[in-house]
Amino acid sequence: MKEKSGLIVKVSGPLVVAENIPGAKMYEMVYVGTKRLFGEIIEVKKNLSSIQVYEDTSGIGPGEPVYSTGTALSVELGPGLIGSIYDGIQRPLDVLMAKYGDFVVRGLFEPPLDRTKNWLFNPIVNKGDFLKGGDFIAEVDETPLVKHKIIVPSGMEGTILMIASQGEYKVEDVIAKIETKNGIQDLTLFHKWPVRIPRPVKRRVPPDELLVTGQRVIDSFFPIAKGGTACVPGPFGSGKTVVQHQLSKWANADIIIFVGCGERGNEMTDVLMEFPELKDPRTGRPLMERTVLIANTSNMPVAAREASVFTGITIAEYYRDMGYSVALMADSTSRWAEAMREMSGRLEEMPGEEGYPAYLASRISSFYERAGKVVLMGREKKEASLSVIGAVSPPGGDLSDPVVQGTLRTVRVFWSLDDSLAYARHFPAIYWLKSYSLYLDSLAEFYKEKMGKDWVDLRVKAMSILRKESELQEMVRLVGIDTLSPNDRVVLETARSIREDFLQQNAFMAEDTFTSLKKQYRMMKLIGLFDRRAHDSLNKGVELDNIISLPVRVEISRAKLIPNDELERFDKIEEDINKSFVNLLEEVKNG
Ligand code: ADP
Repeated sequence: MKEKSGLIVKVSGPLVVAENIPGAKMYEMVYVGTKRLFGEIIEVKKNLSSIQVYEDTSGIGPGEPVYSTGTALSVELGPGLIGSIYDGIQRPLDVLMAKYGDFVVRGLFEPPLDRTKNWLFNPIVNKGDFLKGGDFIAEVDETPLVKHKIIVPSGMEGTILMIASQGEYKVEDVIAKIETKNGIQDLTLFHKWPVRIPRPVKRRVPPDELLVTGQRVIDSFFPIAKGGTACVPGPFGSGKTVVQHQLSKWANADIIIFVGCGERGNEMTDVLMEFPELKDPRTGRPLMERTVLIANTSNMPVAAREASVFTGITIAEYYRDMGYSVALMADSTSRWAEAMREMSGRLEEMPGEEGYPAYLASRISSFYERAGKVVLMGREKKEASLSVIGAVSPPGGDLSDPVVQGTLRTVRVFWSLDDSLAYARHFPAIYWLKSYSLYLDSLAEFYKEKMGKDWVDLRVKAMSILRKESELQEMVRLVGIDTLSPNDRVVLETARSIREDFLQQNAFMAEDTFTSLKKQYRMMKLIGLFDRRAHDSLNKGVELDNIISLPVRVEISRAKLIPNDELERFDKIEEDINKSFVNLLEEVKNG
């Protein structure tokens, strides 16, 4: 059969215009030119189609064919995703590099999922069972850390006619046959899914569970819920990479998807070099055993960044559909937005703010909206979550940038990484006066249960002390420290303690790198107790200097090094704090 094709009429960088592509549809995947470059139709006007090409178009010219495929840009979903390193259109970079060297040659194709590998298959349903889309039919040992569920595709329902017995199978082997209304359907270990269509869920539920990260400033002050969305701007050297690594390692997500839309190869090479080195701290196994990396190589045109973002979120949804808690990190979404701007310019669309297309904000939200805590389609009505954390890199760190603004309109958490904090070596450099989380209310019950009934009050108090500190510092700058009342001086001391003893956290120190929720609670309680007793004893006549110089403050500052499983040691410090103040009050009484 002859392949159906249209003809190229114009090539402008990554944009190719072709005429008479048979049955051309928006977002259809096509092969462009005799080299068969990968592209996606992004505009159809009468017989002309504009195609965003995901490979370098140089040497491609008018008159060459464009082959239609009849399918939308899709990814393969099945065992073998975990541990893979893909480019934006799901070409396995590691496989291509091994075969063809460091430079991915145009038009090359390798299947995203290895066709020759055997997977250990364990059926969990029986012949005769009636199943619906979303139900699990089998488990495959994908990695030592991930059990891969084989899912009945959405929309399908029927009776199992055949299910393969336990054993080793390849991704293309038929492992089940289902008798549906429309005939008998074969199931293999993998299927394809169009990246721009969200995978269906039964319903969304409010995100009311904390994504525990063990990072105190995040969990205690600016939390992200499981299924939530967050944005982090990353001025160079502000510790963005460390934050991303800490989240990948420690967040209580089962699966990590990392999407890198780097500017140039080198930004991405860092990720490609560093990620495979990371260890999963809870199991000691390589983190890649529960991670998928998606990275654009430097010789791919900007257009591929858009594909990588949607490829990433689709793979993330797939693991969510297995009942897992998934966290996706995208770095940097600004690069993706720049790609949109470039394509929009070439399409001669009416530009919006700073040349970005008018649909910038809605395209950004179409990505973040795929996050959420959900009830899955299957009969078990399992809950699962997909959390999305996007990094933005506005030029000059300017937060009024349209990409940042568009992102802030959809995400619910903002971690403001701050240059000057990083410069002062306050890490993580998340600035408490500019950051926010809109999940605090929905997490209130969770906090009460996991941390303590008085947690919310403790946090509110701590935050108000930090705000008060900044006002007082302003006053000190104007009129000097001597004008402050002793009570205000205590506020400054407590604020310093919150910053140094609680918020600062060293990612590279074993005792400090992960703090359990209970420990965060106990640490904050110590600071609160000292603060309360300090104000109280001032009012009873104790001298400020005697309070400030209490040796027990050293114990408070070292509390961060107490192991998560030795929290009883906090009792002793609380006792010491109380004793210290009792002694000061005795001294006042005894003159
Ligand atoms: P960016 O990716 O924003 O350029 P990095 O994440 O590489 O910056 O951080 C720069 C440096 O800051 C790191 O090499 C490290 O020394 C320090 N740093 C950042 N975060 C922490 C942290 N939580 N604990 C200790 N040091 C940190």
